[in-house]
Amino acid sequence: MTVAPQFQFKNGVLHAEDIPLPELADQYATPLYVYSRRALREAWERYARAIAGRNALICYGMKANSNLAVLHEFQRLGAGFDIVSGGELARALAAGAAPGKIVFSGVGKQAWEIRQALSANIKCFNVESAAELERLADIALEMGLRAPMSLRVNPDVDAHTHPYISTGLKENKFGVDIAAAPALYRQAMQHPGLDIVGVDCHIGSQILEIAPYLDALGKLIDLILELRADGIELRHLDLGGGLGIRYTDETPLDPADLLDPVFSTLEARGLGHLQLILEPGRSLVGNAGILLTRVEYLKRTPVRNFAIVDAAMNDLMRPALYEAWHDVEPVAPRAGQTNRVYDIVGPICESGDWLARQRELPIEQGDLLAIMSAGAYAFSMASQYNARPRAAEVLVDADQAHLIRPRESIQDLYASERIPARG
Ligand code: PLP
Repeated sequence: MTVAPQFQFKNGVLHAEDIPLPELADQYATPLYVYSRRALREAWERYARAIAGRNALICYGMKANSNLAVLHEFQRLGAGFDIVSGGELARALAAGAAPGKIVFSGVGKQAWEIRQALSANIKCFNVESAAELERLADIALEMGLRAPMSLRVNPDVDAHTHPYISTGLKENKFGVDIAAAPALYRQAMQHPGLDIVGVDCHIGSQILEIAPYLDALGKLIDLILELRADGIELRHLDLGGGLGIRYTDETPLDPADLLDPVFSTLEARGLGHLQLILEPGRSLVGNAGILLTRVEYLKRTPVRNFAIVDAAMNDLMRPALYEAWHDVEPVAPRAGQTNRVYDIVGPICESGDWLARQRELPIEQGDLLAIMSAGAYAFSMASQYNARPRAAEVLVDADQAHLIRPRESIQDLYASERIPARG
């Protein structure tokens, strides 16, 4: 069984909504990212239901998938955006985002990015260090503006996730130590270039438990009350993103599982008036996409069977980066095919170039495979390593397929490069 309802077998062939995947492979070639518009909308609806009637804003963590069509879909549904670079700001605005719903996270904001975001009049800068606070204040003053800001605090909670996607521990580079936050807020309060509007944290990604969020929330509430005693009133509390999805057999939380206790905790502690912001990425797009790939060769060695496919770590980095698991589905399995245990690997010259390991599958050369749950952190992390053009992206809406990014050409790879004149 597949992990997403919009990718289902019908008459023995895997479909994206109403379109058989082999049709998309014939039309657009492989490797190919295929997204389901209905899945995007349904993921959004889960958040929308959880915040209905509340003072809350969902800022899509667009680093998960920043194709303009995906951004536009969420923007139409009412989303704001969590950005981490000037490039993401430009993308969000190009997709029609309202600047007043954009929050800007990231530990290394450069001066030009700060200027660009101030000019756009974004909702809030999530400041991650004392040095950044100073830079933001100086630039705002120089531009004759006041920068709306919150501190991203590091609440030192363990999100029980992979170390590379855990961000709320003391040893991580993210945020400001929560113990140092009151002094920094007091400093910000004195600065004419700064307008304190909130507090923020993001503790990690692919989180499957509520407890770490509630731990972080408790610490943030203590901070907010301490600031209030100092005469600093915040308007919003941003709990970041991080809700997990089902890659294999995980049981992800529904946004309401998290938000119901969050809202009641805020009310119980006299902070029901605060706007709640969330920055979900993966849980809005992860299971709305797959990576379609074709088996180029089967190769047997004395100790391993390899299925060498036309997708690679440059198209989907997560297995190489985090040893992440993605389900693999043969798109049109035929009766009588033999099951064997395979490592599914790409053509790249790295041993780390694998997409799945030790999977028992009925595969023959030329078969199509769907690498599931590839809507998040797949294309957005793609590279051109080994001079491989980045694959096309298609958005399926019922029985319509829209090419939302064509495959890069070989010429695209080096069109902007220059060989210096000799002399
Ligand atoms: N917000 C911030 C600051 C992040 O760093 C991230 C991911 O790294 C997100 C939101 C989105 O996280 P997720 O995709 O796990 O929801």
